[in-house]
Amino acid sequence: MEGCNGARGGNRRRFMQTTAAAGAALASANTLFADDVKAAPAVPLVTLGKTGQKVTKLGMGTSWALSPSFVQRAIAAGVRYIDTSESYENTVAEKVLGEVLDRTGTRKDVYLVTKNAGFRNAKGPGASKVFEEHLEASLGRLKTDYVDAYYLHGITGAQVGLLSDPGVIAAFAALKKAGKIKFAGLSCHDAQLVEILDEVAKVGWIDQVMIKYNFRDVGGKDKHDELQRVIDKCSKANVGLVAMKTQGGAVNFPDKMKALTDKGFKKEVAAIKSVWQDTRMQVVVSEMTTFSDLRENIAASKDEMTQKEARLLEEHRKATANLYCHGDCAKLCESASRGVPVSTVLRYLRYYEVYGKREAARVLYQALPNISRQLVDANLLAAEAACPHGLPVVSLLKQADKRMS
Ligand code: SF4
Repeated sequence: MEGCNGARGGNRRRFMQTTAAAGAALASANTLFADDVKAAPAVPLVTLGKTGQKVTKLGMGTSWALSPSFVQRAIAAGVRYIDTSESYENTVAEKVLGEVLDRTGTRKDVYLVTKNAGFRNAKGPGASKVFEEHLEASLGRLKTDYVDAYYLHGITGAQVGLLSDPGVIAAFAALKKAGKIKFAGLSCHDAQLVEILDEVAKVGWIDQVMIKYNFRDVGGKDKHDELQRVIDKCSKANVGLVAMKTQGGAVNFPDKMKALTDKGFKKEVAAIKSVWQDTRMQVVVSEMTTFSDLRENIAASKDEMTQKEARLLEEHRKATANLYCHGDCAKLCESASRGVPVSTVLRYLRYYEVYGKREAARVLYQALPNISRQLVDANLLAAEAACPHGLPVVSLLKQADKRMS
């Protein structure tokens, strides 16, 4: 018995010693990491609109199964802008970020954005409760007592009225006053982006926005004149402009891509540089999932676009123009498709095929109401005929249904 106790005691002592040694090693690693962060090579800085904050022009997107080591490496490499949401990986992204920022003591070194995805019915006197409760939960997961910016996540045209709702405006003002958020913002990749940005410029209380913007939009190449007009308007109103989904990936184009890759062209790098060439866009939030993405994007943030890159990117844009769904013209195809949200389904297909997020895409597709998945040939043909970009809507939607049902 005694021997048993002695052995347990010995094991316990060894366990305590090992744990103490591991704790000391971790503390020392975190101190070294904090030193690394101070000495990190600079990623170029920009002033983010009316926030007046200096942030890195490259931001880290976190809408994937984020690993602590990746977050740590990105911060050590100089990225100081982090974009997350309560909805990314069903709150796990916030938890991973919170753990790393807390353990490494780097919370104050980064500009941290998170988003409220539960605001759909928040308006009037009830709005404050919705925003406060969701924000408190995010702050808990992020292990911080404030975020730099708090967003309405993925606002749609149907919710544009919230931007002038007194309850919503008061809720954000109260959160600012309490020091829980520094700035207010929104993210949007809705078909009615133009209407939403028009409203943002008008209402004045939104400090920054994150929008879908890529090389197909830059300079109004695919005739997005209205989008260019409202971006100008927001830029003149000094709203901070953040671009996401900058790759402009098209479905069904690997064969076209290969011809360019064979010429030594890295489309991902050229695409991100192209967005930075539009000086109204201050930050690009990129969903980097490998260390080589991180290295390439940091290098790209310090570099100008070469003539060769510009030429080949333009070649690629033209070759894939009828394979990429722009989304902001959805009124045209969706008024013909009788209930099928064409642009949303094609966005999910892009998640599935281009970004490789197969499971997430399936979940999103299957959550659409039944009517959205009733693919009646005549309606799809009418939608295809209405598409000004010549997308093969019928075959793409059938492909989407086959992949994600
Ligand atoms: S299918 Fe065509 S019309 Fe519909 S949103 Fe996409 S690009 Fe626009």
